[in-house]
Amino acid sequence: MKLSIKNKIFLLISTFVGAIVFILLSSIFLFQKSNVQQLSIENLEKEKDNKVKFFNKYIENKTILLESIIDNKYIINFAKDKKDKEFVQNLFITLFKTNKDIFQFRYIDINGNETIRVDNYQKPILVEDKYLQNKKGRYYFEDTLKKKSGEVYYSNIDLNVENSKIELPIVPTLRIAKTLIIDNKKMGIIILNINLKTFLEDLQKSSLHDVSLIYEDANIIVSKDSKYNWTSDLKLGKSVFDLYDFLPKDLTKTKLRKSEHFYLSALDISSKDKIYMLLVPKDFNKYNKIYEQSENRIILLIIVTLFGLPIGYLIAGYIEEKYKDKILLDKTTNDNILINSVINSTNDLIFYKDKDFKYIGCNHAFEKLVQKSLAEIIGKTDFELFNKEQAKLFRESDILMLKDNKVKIFNEWFTNTDGSKIYYQTQKIPFDYSLNKNIGILGLARDHTDLHLSQLKIKEQVYIDELTQVFNRKLYNKRVQESLDLFKRYDCNFCLAILDIDNFKNINDTYGHDVGDDVLVKIAKAIKDMVRSTDLLFRIGGEEFVLILPKNDLDNAFIIIEKIREYISTLELVKNEKITVSIGLTKVKKSDSVETLFKRADILMYKSKRSGKNKTSEA
Ligand code: GH3
Ligand code: MG
Ligand code: MG
Repeated sequence: MKLSIKNKIFLLISTFVGAIVFILLSSIFLFQKSNVQQLSIENLEKEKDNKVKFFNKYIENKTILLESIIDNKYIINFAKDKKDKEFVQNLFITLFKTNKDIFQFRYIDINGNETIRVDNYQKPILVEDKYLQNKKGRYYFEDTLKKKSGEVYYSNIDLNVENSKIELPIVPTLRIAKTLIIDNKKMGIIILNINLKTFLEDLQKSSLHDVSLIYEDANIIVSKDSKYNWTSDLKLGKSVFDLYDFLPKDLTKTKLRKSEHFYLSALDISSKDKIYMLLVPKDFNKYNKIYEQSENRIILLIIVTLFGLPIGYLIAGYIEEKYKDKILLDKTTNDNILINSVINSTNDLIFYKDKDFKYIGCNHAFEKLVQKSLAEIIGKTDFELFNKEQAKLFRESDILMLKDNKVKIFNEWFTNTDGSKIYYQTQKIPFDYSLNKNIGILGLARDHTDLHLSQLKIKEQVYIDELTQVFNRKLYNKRVQESLDLFKRYDCNFCLAILDIDNFKNINDTYGHDVGDDVLVKIAKAIKDMVRSTDLLFRIGGEEFVLILPKNDLDNAFIIIEKIREYISTLELVKNEKITVSIGLTKVKKSDSVETLFKRADILMYKSKRSGKNKTSEA
């Protein structure tokens, strides 16, 4: 399939636009897809469940641990009889190894005295008796004892307090405790302190959600923003509503709340204050914005495509219109090296002009002829390159060819600046040089000078007498008819004379044929030398010549003819021989035909012979 330049340019532009639109669209869709996948309800739901489960499981594990040690034989022995204290201490120390987040195991007796305490900060430490305290007034001790038999006590999640100061760096702490009952008698409590730091960090790790733990009263335990954490412990006077302005004020009125903006679930832990997990899809607003933006971008791209393509088409048209000649020129002179070298390898002139007769290209031979470079020639007309007369000739043949829109051949003489002449045979060919179907002229000119001249010579030869080199009978027949026609139409009168050599046979017989020939040549030359160039001399028979004298009246002609006759008679063409001619001279008449004219002259010539030869008779 052949495409026009315009369509090629358009194809290029639309491919370019299309590629950009495709890349942008696909990147937007891919980006959206990944976000959508991440933010898909399914994933969000799954994580909500997992996070809540993760929390509850953790608490459950610690509870199981506590319940398993409270039945321990050594602990019971110790509670009963203060026996096996070392075993209990060792048990607690061993348990640290598998529960690195627990930093205290204590046994507090019914009076509130810490009787066994093992700490685990950098490493497990058995606290000496002298450092043991009475915890009777502490809320966790009282609250644990208040629990129904078999129930586990869970403290709030708060910051660890040492010597009535919040321990720094902060230690998020959960206390789990249970009353040890032997034979329905409350003996004391086992309490373990858990450092929740790592656990809370793990809990909060999510690419989908911001995970917060809050109390029923909207105080924050942990959230995405550490500035808002531990609002109640640090008495910050802030709540979860300061963090998320979209939360309803009655947030914690039910155990479970779901909305597209958040998810709230009451946790299983039966702590003093109810704890909730709040999950807010991460950067909800940001993604929302990106969605909106990408929607805008898609609309923009559709607009770009809708408007870009027609505009691209117009641009392609404009480029083509503006550069069409250059495009063509590039194509014909620059792009195609092969064609260039072909057109430049010939001596023939090759040139091409547009519809306004301006040159759009040529080969080296043409450059040489006009003695200008291609760049100088382009855009010029013949009138700027040749003399006016020459240019006019070229222009006429251009117009003729364009009018018929057909290949035409012209044979023209071209005069060079140095005056030398070249006979060119020029083919002018209709030339579709532009995309607008404009027809220009493609010219191929070949130097036909030699051919033309030799053709002329051959043509002439047909009419030239071989021996005397004057015109022959054949041409006489043509010319006499033409002269007669001209005379009849335009009154161009003329005289006609027949000249016959006297006693020529004797010359031949006496001196030989060659001498006769020589006489013929010399007489022809003598006559030719004496007449004007417009007079026509023919040898029409062996020793007979005809002279046509245009525009001469008979008297004038007679004078000329007599001069010729006399002159011939004076020549000594053959030694000791006088050679003469007899002549019949007449003037053309309106009533004449070629035959009657000749006949009249012939009769007059014979009249001269009869009256003694070497004479001219006229009539
Ligand atoms: P007249 O004075 O009556 O004209 O006598 P003439 O001898 O000239 O005429 P005639 O017609 O009897 O003879 C013409 C001669 O011219 C005959 C021929 O041998 C000779 N002749 C014709 N053509 C040529 C030619 O080409 N070369 C030569 N050498 N002789 C020629
Ligand atoms: Mg004769
Ligand atoms: Mg004769």
